[in-house]
Amino acid sequence: MKYYGYMGKILWVNLTKKKIWEENLSHSLVHKFIGDFGIGAKLAFDLIDTGIDPLSPENFIIIGAGPLTGTSIPSSSRIHAFSKLPLTGTVGACGGGMGFGAKMKYAGYDHIIITGKSKTPVYLKVDEEPEICDATDLWGKDLFETTDLLWTKYGPHSGVTAIGPAGENQVKLSLTLIDKYSSLGKGGLGAVFGLKNLKAIVAHGHKGVQIADPERYHRLNNEIRKEMSQYPIQQGDWEPLLLLMGQTHNMRETCDVEAATKKFGPKTYEEKVIIGKAACPSCLLGCRDNMKIKDGKYNDLQSYIAGIGGRTILLGLRLGMESVESVVKGTDLIQRYGIDSHALGGVVEFAQELYEKGFISEEELNGTPLTGSDQAVLGTLKKIAYREGVGDTLADGVIGIIKKYGPETEKYSCHIKGLDAQMEPREIKVSPLVFSQVTNPRGGEAKPGMLDPLVFMQNVNRDFVETFCEKAAIPKKNQQKMFNSKNQVNIARLTRHTEDYYVAYSSLGICMRHNITPFYSMSRLADLYSAVTGINMSQTDLKDASERVWNIWKLSNMKNGYCRKDDRFPLRWSEELIDRKDAKIKSISLRDFNGKDLTNIQSEKKFMDDYYDERGWSKELGVPLPEKLIDIDLVQEGQKCKKLKCHKKIRQIMENGDFDPN
Ligand code: SF4
Repeated sequence: MKYYGYMGKILWVNLTKKKIWEENLSHSLVHKFIGDFGIGAKLAFDLIDTGIDPLSPENFIIIGAGPLTGTSIPSSSRIHAFSKLPLTGTVGACGGGMGFGAKMKYAGYDHIIITGKSKTPVYLKVDEEPEICDATDLWGKDLFETTDLLWTKYGPHSGVTAIGPAGENQVKLSLTLIDKYSSLGKGGLGAVFGLKNLKAIVAHGHKGVQIADPERYHRLNNEIRKEMSQYPIQQGDWEPLLLLMGQTHNMRETCDVEAATKKFGPKTYEEKVIIGKAACPSCLLGCRDNMKIKDGKYNDLQSYIAGIGGRTILLGLRLGMESVESVVKGTDLIQRYGIDSHALGGVVEFAQELYEKGFISEEELNGTPLTGSDQAVLGTLKKIAYREGVGDTLADGVIGIIKKYGPETEKYSCHIKGLDAQMEPREIKVSPLVFSQVTNPRGGEAKPGMLDPLVFMQNVNRDFVETFCEKAAIPKKNQQKMFNSKNQVNIARLTRHTEDYYVAYSSLGICMRHNITPFYSMSRLADLYSAVTGINMSQTDLKDASERVWNIWKLSNMKNGYCRKDDRFPLRWSEELIDRKDAKIKSISLRDFNGKDLTNIQSEKKFMDDYYDERGWSKELGVPLPEKLIDIDLVQEGQKCKKLKCHKKIRQIMENGDFDPN
């Protein structure tokens, strides 16, 4: 059968044997799991063995592009990578944008699966004649240099995913960058590349994406483009972002919004360092920043980033760099080394607090502080990227630090399953954006709650949430359970559905930034899928497939011992925040969106129970049970879990905390 939307092929690469081959994409995979994210999640479940070391040749890197990727549907450039991640030990799904996904499809592939380990540095060329190529000359080069060299060789329109020195040195905070702008691989995907001696993947080709129903496709495409051109693009999220990410001193103090805005706010960086915008292919918005420093000690430095606002909060406010120009310098180094800035911010602040409390000694820091000035932050970055001195410990992330300095240090950390929580709930309350970090099988990552204006959950009433429920195709019976008698929304129940909605976007390849999602709905996504692939799909079918995909991703992690004990709020969230501006301790405790206190164990338990109930999972274990798996057509996968005695092991973990993969 001919494929539309899909290219119909998976590229397999075994780096140990230096072998490359291709296989047909099976129809059952396509029908049941749908596209990039869904098929990636199923492949990860099948391929990644229980208990393997993420930094071993046995680990896999599975990269996929969606059926809409490579078309001109707005913002359809997302790709996802699945791997067992060294920072967390979880089987993670990592998302990225820019041009790699389209180029991979033009070369003829929907997915690339890489395993093994090369003896020497290599890069993978993906075109009509894929090849493992020598990368000795690229090894040691930074990420921008590597990308430029591959663009020079294969043309500026090829897509490049590469690692920098941090990945080469197997730093667990490392990631890959796509085409210099877009990160891919929070959780240490860069280190997995590094362990495999895989410096980069470059993709290019000329095969087009075939459209099953061109007339319907053009009508839908034009409708979306027209709406986008008429709708005021939502900008200016600086203040909510500050309240979600700007807490300083390792999440102990509130952010002084006024002072922060004056020094680092959008007006300042737009005037001083931004010289233009860049976009992923087919995106009409363009949220990537091109920056240039116009004077001072970093004069003439030019760099690129997915969005400077978040980095300004991390490097300027939280780590204490001195100006927006300094932030650009720090961001440039982070990009060149290939480090995840969010994880970095959390780890460095955690280590700084351990130093203040005497766990990390003066000698270990070798006389140089970790934060508080340009010199300190730039020095810390280099130490982490090259694993020098204390940087060697920081490079192993929060879990590595806790292992080294003892379990009593854990209470000062702010991680969920080993990944630093990106979003902080005490000032802005627990919304799906915040809560999705707790339930994310990978660990503290907020994307599955990052949809629509629900992002910030301010001034939201029942009508507003009901409108979202319609867009996300949430069945009426579920909607009824989502509100109490006072019309207050149950965030835990709602989050289960933002996760499914996120899977639908991610499987098709659509960007889920909040400025893009107003133009899509489950119904429109299903319509687009049907037009492009010729496989008729209703919004209910897409919602059901998305639920199945979330469950199989959860099963991959259940096989590795992750369960209810890992879905927990960081202890720091239940402490009070200090407000220095008013010279007093603000009593800001953890509350849900309706103002209900969540600091005690009972209320947190009820919150989690509601989420598991909405998913139809075991409340006791926090995982899907066999009956649920039958219900969503994951029978074979359930049998595999039965063979591995997963539920028995999870029960033991809940009772005594031990996990034995064998
Ligand atoms: S909004 Fe940003 S991340 Fe999303 S497609 Fe456009 S440029 Fe890419």
